[in-house]
Parts: sequence; C-alpha cells; structure tokens
Amino acid sequence: MTSSDENNAPASDRFSEVPPDLWQTCPGCNQLLFSQDLEADLWVCSKCGYHFRLTVWQRLEVTADPDSFEEWDRELPLNDPLEFPEYLEKTRAAQEKTGMSEAVLTGRAALDGIPFAIGIMDLSFVGGSMGWVVGERVTRLMERAIEKRLPVVISSASGGARMQESLISLMQMAKTSGAAGKLAQAGLPYVSLLTDPTYGGVMASFAFLGDIIIAEKGAAMGFAGPRVVEVTGLRMPAGVQTAEVQYEHGMIDMLLPRREIRPALHTILRWCTV
Ligand SMILES: [Zn+2]
Repeated sequence: MTSSDENNAPASDRFSEVPPDLWQTCPGCNQLLFSQDLEADLWVCSKCGYHFRLTVWQRLEVTADPDSFEEWDRELPLNDPLEFPEYLEKTRAAQEKTGMSEAVLTGRAALDGIPFAIGIMDLSFVGGSMGWVVGERVTRLMERAIEKRLPVVISSASGGARMQESLISLMQMAKTSGAAGKLAQAGLPYVSLLTDPTYGGVMASFAFLGDIIIAEKGAAMGFAGPRVVEVTGLRMPAGVQTAEVQYEHGMIDMLLPRREIRPALHTILRWCTV
C-alpha cells in the first residue's frame, strides 16, 4: 500500500493501526492515560491517584528484582473433590485466559539482593478464590521458608473461599493459619500485603495473620462483601470496608501508596535479615 493509498483508506482502517492498549481510561477520573506513562507510574493514575489492579506479573515487577523469581509448586494438579458441575472447565478456561496455573503464584525472589519467599494472588483467576491448590501452595511456601530460613511476603487479592470446593476450601483457612503459626514459632517474619480487594476466607485466615500488615491505598477489604451483607437486611456504614477505615481502627499497621510499598518492604526485610 502506497502512502497515498493509506491517506485514502477508510478512517476505521487507519484507526485500527493504533494498538488498542496504547491508552487506558482511568476508572477513578475517566481521564485517558498513555499506557507507557501509566506503567512508569506503577499503574497509578497521575491525575487522581487511582490504583489500577495489577496482574501477578505486574505485582512481581513492582515488588522484586528483575529475573530473581523462581517458582515453587507449579505442578500441583487442579482439584475437583465434589465433581462440581463445569468447575474443571472453568478453571482450565482461567488458565488459558491468565497464563496462571492457579490463583496464587509462589516462589523465591529477591529485593535489592535480599532473598525472600513470595506469594502473589491473582484476582482474575476464578476471583482469586482459595481452594485446595491455593491453600497448599501458601502452606508449602511458609514451610519451605522455614526450611530455608527466608522471610515471607504474601500479596493478597481475593474474593474469599472457593465455593466449588466447599468444605475442602474452608479447611485451607485452618491449614494456612497453622502454617503462619509455625512460621512465627520459627522466628521468621511474615509481611502480609493487602491489595484491592481482599475478602472472605483469605482475609479471615493468612492475610490478616502477618507480623506486619500493609494495605495498599484504596484497597477494599472485609469478611462478607457488600452484596452478601445486603442480603441479611443489615446496613453497613459507608466506607467501612476500606483500607483507610481499617487503618484508622488499628487493624492494619501501614497504609501506603503503591510507590512506597517496595521501599517499605526493603526496610522491613533488611531489619529482619541482618
Ligand atoms: Zn484517575
């Protein structure tokens, strides 16, 4: 196609040459943001401070040194103890869509050269819900951290327990809480990072058991979500399930914008490992 042909091409063809993800609209202020600038700002809107939700890989990028990550326990098989209708199909579709094998990624990484064990939950994988694989990976993460004498950082983002695994899912709350207890007995630090949103069985187990709990600015969190509370006929005060209110009431140790989280983690890990 010559340049004059290009100029004569229908407008729709010319616009189709613009990559669809070149610009992103901020859900906080509706401004158009240039994707490259947004990435440089760690996916925080420069106009209004809205924190975009991150993929697991983006969270890893803003938390750990490049190329320092080594994955653990990827081989755990999908679990369908109740043979719940369409559950395996749904999880396999989530694998294809996200490139994740389950709703949490675990392994070893480094921050400014300091090694630590890291877990990152993926909200886009079946709502970041905790079934057997998620509970098992979190538990093994903590147990392996004890063996290797590593501090642990887990970034949570979850709708709660995975209903398709019923009681097996709820048992993961006890299992991960027990592992956090063993980690504490071993004298190793556990930093829990709560991101938007952290709810249900994850919030009520390992996510709120950190020695230090950090919440990312603007994150929603709670046990029963607003829609569940609505069904009971009770009215929830506005804003109660936000990181800001939880911080005001002493449930969280630090409330930080995204840009300050990595330096805070660095300070904590350095204190704990020298
Ligand atoms: Zn904005």
